[in-house]
Amino acid sequence: MLQLSTALLVAMHLACLFVFVVPFSTKVLALCAFGYLLRMWAITAGYHRYFAHRSYKTSRAFQLVLAVLGTTAMQNGPLWWASWHRRHHRHADTAKDTHSPLHGMWHAHFGWVLDGKHDHPDYANVKDLTRFPELRFLDEHKWLPIIAYGAACFAVGGVSGLVWGFVVSTIACLHATALVNSLAHVWGSRRFDTRDQSRNNALIAILTLGEGWHNNHHHRMGVARQGVAWYEIDVTYYVLRVLAWLGIVWDIRLRKPGPTLPVPAPPPA
Ligand SMILES: [Zn+2]
Ligand SMILES: [Zn+2]
Repeated sequence: MLQLSTALLVAMHLACLFVFVVPFSTKVLALCAFGYLLRMWAITAGYHRYFAHRSYKTSRAFQLVLAVLGTTAMQNGPLWWASWHRRHHRHADTAKDTHSPLHGMWHAHFGWVLDGKHDHPDYANVKDLTRFPELRFLDEHKWLPIIAYGAACFAVGGVSGLVWGFVVSTIACLHATALVNSLAHVWGSRRFDTRDQSRNNALIAILTLGEGWHNNHHHRMGVARQGVAWYEIDVTYYVLRVLAWLGIVWDIRLRKPGPTLPVPAPPPA
C-alpha cells in the first residue's frame, strides 16, 4: 500500500511557493479556507471522534461521507488513522507510543509518518471498522479522493484554485493536525492528572476546531465533546450538535452529569 511519501510531502511543501506566482483572488482564498475547515472537520469529527473513538453513531452512508472527506486531507485512510490513534491512547507518552514528543518533537509532529515504520499498522485494533469493505477500499485507494479533490479545486479556480484550494489548504490542515500530536503533549495547561503529558491549548483548539483541549480528551477519550468549560471553544462538537438536530448523527456520547472540574484549592490562610 502506497503511503504518504517523503518525496510527495516535500513536493507539496515546495508547491506552496506557487502562491507567489499564480494569480490571487478572494475566490481562491475562500476556497483555501473552505477546504481547510471542511477537511479539518472531517478529520476531527470523522477520523478522530467517530472512527478512532466511536463517540457518536451515524448511518453507514454518512460514515462513508466522513471517510471520503477525511481521506482528501492526505492523512492516509480511516483505518490507518484510527488504528495508530487507538494505539496512541493505549500507550500515550510511553516507549510504545507511536508519536510521543518524548521521542523528539519532529518525530511526534511528522517524523513518525515518514520513518517507514508506520506504513502498515496492525488492524487487529480496528476490527469494528475493517468489517466495512468500503472503508478497506478507501484505505487501499486513498489517492482517488485526493486526486478528485485536487481536480475539483482546479475546476473551480484553475491553477490558482489548485495551489490555494488544494496544496496550501492541505498542508495547513496537515500541520495543524500534527500539532495535536506534538505541541498538545508539551505546551499548555493540565486540568486532569492523566498518566500522559497531554495539555489543553487554546491556540491549537482554534486551529483544529476543538482538538486542542487534548488533556480533557485524554481524560475521557470516548466523549464527543472535548471542550469541558463553556469558554473552551469546540467547533467540531457544535457542528455535531447541528447534525444531531438534523437527524444525521445520534447517540452523541457526553460527559456524565456531575462535577467534572477539579475544585480549586482554598487560598492559604
Ligand atoms: Zn494525545
Ligand atoms: Zn483521541
